[in-house]
Amino acid sequence: MCEFCALGEESLCSTYGILGEHHPGGYREFMAIDASKAIPIPRDSRLTFEEAAAVPLTFMTAWRMLKTRARLQVGQDVLIIGIGGGVAVAALQIAKAIGARVFVTSSSNDKLEKARQLGADFLINHTETPDYHREIWKLTERRGVDVVVDSVGEATWARSLRSLRNSGRLVTCGATSGPNAETNVNLVFWKQLEILGSTMASRSELESVLQLVWDGQLKPVVDRILRLSSAKEAHEILERGDQFGKIVLTP
Ligand SMILES: [Zn+2]
Repeated sequence: MCEFCALGEESLCSTYGILGEHHPGGYREFMAIDASKAIPIPRDSRLTFEEAAAVPLTFMTAWRMLKTRARLQVGQDVLIIGIGGGVAVAALQIAKAIGARVFVTSSSNDKLEKARQLGADFLINHTETPDYHREIWKLTERRGVDVVVDSVGEATWARSLRSLRNSGRLVTCGATSGPNAETNVNLVFWKQLEILGSTMASRSELESVLQLVWDGQLKPVVDRILRLSSAKEAHEILERGDQFGKIVLTP
């Protein structure tokens, strides 16, 4: 057992890998896995199998980002860039459950409306308002937000850093628009910002967030359910960024 596993920090283990990313096996009808890796769906849960399938990855990732890494507290402000992706939608729900005020951006008014229905407090269309950091500045009375969730990367990074208040935290679990973002180092030290990376979560974090899902406080958002034979179509939807929540494939 390595030093990280000994601390219960499985996602920091050098042998940590994701099925379907580091190991083949995401797209098949049957597979054998270690029983300790399977999560039973409680009998009294009202979730369908497809809804339950949409839970672990997004909720555990968003939970670690907001709770453990960015230390989001009740009453704080959080900005979520690009609402629509599974992790962003889970982050919105978790931020509201924590008691934070949530700002979201999207290029789609339809997605912004869906985010509003999930509790988002402020909606910014970043096509109509490309300088969204200025809008954040106005909306927070020139304070900025405590936390930004930015997994878009290159395209938004500089504006995300500018949206932070002094001692704010930017947390990322991806870089969908590219990894080589520009960082104004003056901003980082003068405003005493923190840039936090996050990947997946530990088993105990997963169990904490699952409890809220089984209790019904957090609800998986399934964009649509497709057959495994339509995997190509599913990927095309993801590439266009048309989805709001998860796309689930069934055998
Ligand atoms: Zn280890």
